[in-house]
Amino acid sequence: MNIPMVDLKNQLLKIREEVENGFKNVLDTGNFVNGPDVKDFSNELANYLGVKNVIPCANGTDALQVAMMSLNLKPGDEVITTGFTFIATVEVISLLGLKPVLVDVDAETFNINPDCILKAITPRTKAIVPVHLFGQCADMDRIMEIANKNNLYVIEDTAQAIGTDFYHSSGDVRKAGTIGHIGCTSFFPSKNLGCYGDGGAIFTNDDNLANKISSIVNHGMTVRYYHDMIGVNSRLDTLQAVVLRAKLKHLDTYNLARKAAADFYDKAFENCSKIITPKRFKKSTHTFHQYTLQLIDVNRQALQDHLNSKGIANAVYYPVPMHEQKAFEQYYNAEMSFPVTEKLCESVISLPIHSELNAEIQGYITDSVLEFFT
Ligand SMILES: *Cc1c(COP(=O)(O)O)cnc(C)c1O
Repeated sequence: MNIPMVDLKNQLLKIREEVENGFKNVLDTGNFVNGPDVKDFSNELANYLGVKNVIPCANGTDALQVAMMSLNLKPGDEVITTGFTFIATVEVISLLGLKPVLVDVDAETFNINPDCILKAITPRTKAIVPVHLFGQCADMDRIMEIANKNNLYVIEDTAQAIGTDFYHSSGDVRKAGTIGHIGCTSFFPSKNLGCYGDGGAIFTNDDNLANKISSIVNHGMTVRYYHDMIGVNSRLDTLQAVVLRAKLKHLDTYNLARKAAADFYDKAFENCSKIITPKRFKKSTHTFHQYTLQLIDVNRQALQDHLNSKGIANAVYYPVPMHEQKAFEQYYNAEMSFPVTEKLCESVISLPIHSELNAEIQGYITDSVLEFFT
């Protein structure tokens, strides 16, 4: 057995012809940059998400950086985010000379804890960056309420939650990434909507921000060779847009398959006292970018070794909290203590999850995990 975390090979089988035809068309026309597929994909994604503007860019990290560049923040302004995330979220804040202010997460959903956000607000706070971790939305009702009261921007990091629905207490249902002022996503191959290289996008319902963002991704240019502000070069390749157009049509099917796989795991592990299965947050659907278990008093490395010996890929997202990263030591102080984040970093493990799992493979995975505990 050799079971990967994601299976892009089998996923490709169903869309191969469409992708190859699209590639051939790009090769024949030579429209490698900003070809018609890029515009078509932006419109199709905007339509899918129910958001006014989708601006594609080169990757999810750029999406976050450009979103933050569009908000006129000043050096030293504070941006509140979670320390239980991929580094990109925090990295761009410090790259722009802003100050990342990390707060703890909720023990059940792993998402940023609104009570901790409230305590971290100072007169210099300008924005909040919730990360919809592993496929489930942070509590956007409370985050938007806090943001509105304190006049803060909200940039959603939706890299792991494309297609996830958030159920507002008002009854409104909105897609992750379309609730705050700006949403950012990544199309890295292993994401729920991934291309075959790097890609990303920025969403907003605010037309002024959309114009500014479109200009920033193109060297701050509105009229050719007239540059109104300092921008970057961040584009989605036409070839990648071809892949994304083909996959977007299947995104809901992919996400449902991930949920079915998660249900299978939940059921298999329900009587194992050493494992806490992922909690479902009642205000959000879960698109299971990762299926992440919490282990109770288990030697995690020994479990990993056991799974590796069985040919079952597994991973720890994330082993080191952001406040303990060497790269961020300039922000560190001894008072920083995020007990939930720290405990999760020590006790989580993620199992293979993707759109192509079947009962046979999953049975082998769950049997192998349970075998470790007997
Ligand atoms: C993948 C990811 C990113 C960065 O995306 P890239 O396309 O790899 O730059 C940012 N935030 C989170 C939470 C991610 O998972």
